[in-house]
Amino acid sequence: MSRIAYVNGRYQDMRDASVNIEDRGYQFADGVYEVCEVRGGKLVDMPRHLARLQRSLGELRIAEPMPLAALSVVMHEVVRRNRVRFGIVYLQISRGVARRDHGFPAAGVKPSVVVTARSIDPAKGAANAARGIKVITVPENRWPRVDIKSTALLPNVLAKQAAREAGAYEAWYVDSDGFVTEGSSSNAWIVTEEGRVVTRPDKSGILSGITRSVLKEALEALQIRLEERPFTPQEAAGAAEAFVTAASMIVMPVVAIDGHAIGSGKPGPVALRLREQFHRFTTFS
Ligand code: PLP
Repeated sequence: MSRIAYVNGRYQDMRDASVNIEDRGYQFADGVYEVCEVRGGKLVDMPRHLARLQRSLGELRIAEPMPLAALSVVMHEVVRRNRVRFGIVYLQISRGVARRDHGFPAAGVKPSVVVTARSIDPAKGAANAARGIKVITVPENRWPRVDIKSTALLPNVLAKQAAREAGAYEAWYVDSDGFVTEGSSSNAWIVTEEGRVVTRPDKSGILSGITRSVLKEALEALQIRLEERPFTPQEAAGAAEAFVTAASMIVMPVVAIDGHAIGSGKPGPVALRLREQFHRFTTFS
């Protein structure tokens, strides 16, 4: 079955879908995106993703190309047309098409909208979680506005590639004070020997992950203590457990950091429990 994308008002075969070479998303990475989990054909936590999208657009002064409710309809339709039951839906909005010039284009240039969806075999995620993933650390080298979910991801691309080349799955950024900020495409967490879950506050240095915010509510409901504070790679190496969160990975146990085993070197019970319980706390639409 060929895949279908939504591109600026049209549902098209992916093989024919294209954007203008003067699209500012292509020229300057002048755009924002969202990735939403699809589970049983439903979109997970859509209202939160749309609220974050609205915030990202606002911070970059990109106009909303259509009402959020209409965007939601398009995302559902792309999932339906691609018959995705388990996977992700991707939405990207750029500032639009204009002659190349760094400053904003004239008022009236319409933002570009692209939506795609793809299936991911849930057994693959489960197998990864059963094994656990390895992370490496890399120096933080991104701009300070990582709170905006911008398509400008070159440092993230390089960090992820460095992880792959080191035989790991994810890279954790470490800021100039020696604290972990987050992963190249995920939020970072550890579990202390006392069973407290630790993650960096979302005031600075991280994207406020939707999975992160749902997990905070899950922790409260499950009566697991949360400490929102920065932690170092050394603390992570000596922690009982570690894990990462993202819409595409849910809760993924981390078993090694920079080649050092974390805890038993196997996925920890807290991470596995949170992964198993996670969707009790999400919305489906
Ligand atoms: N941090 C970064 C840099 C990310 O790219 C992502 C997801 O792609 C996350 C955190 C996790 O965010 P969410 O849980 O909303 O997927």
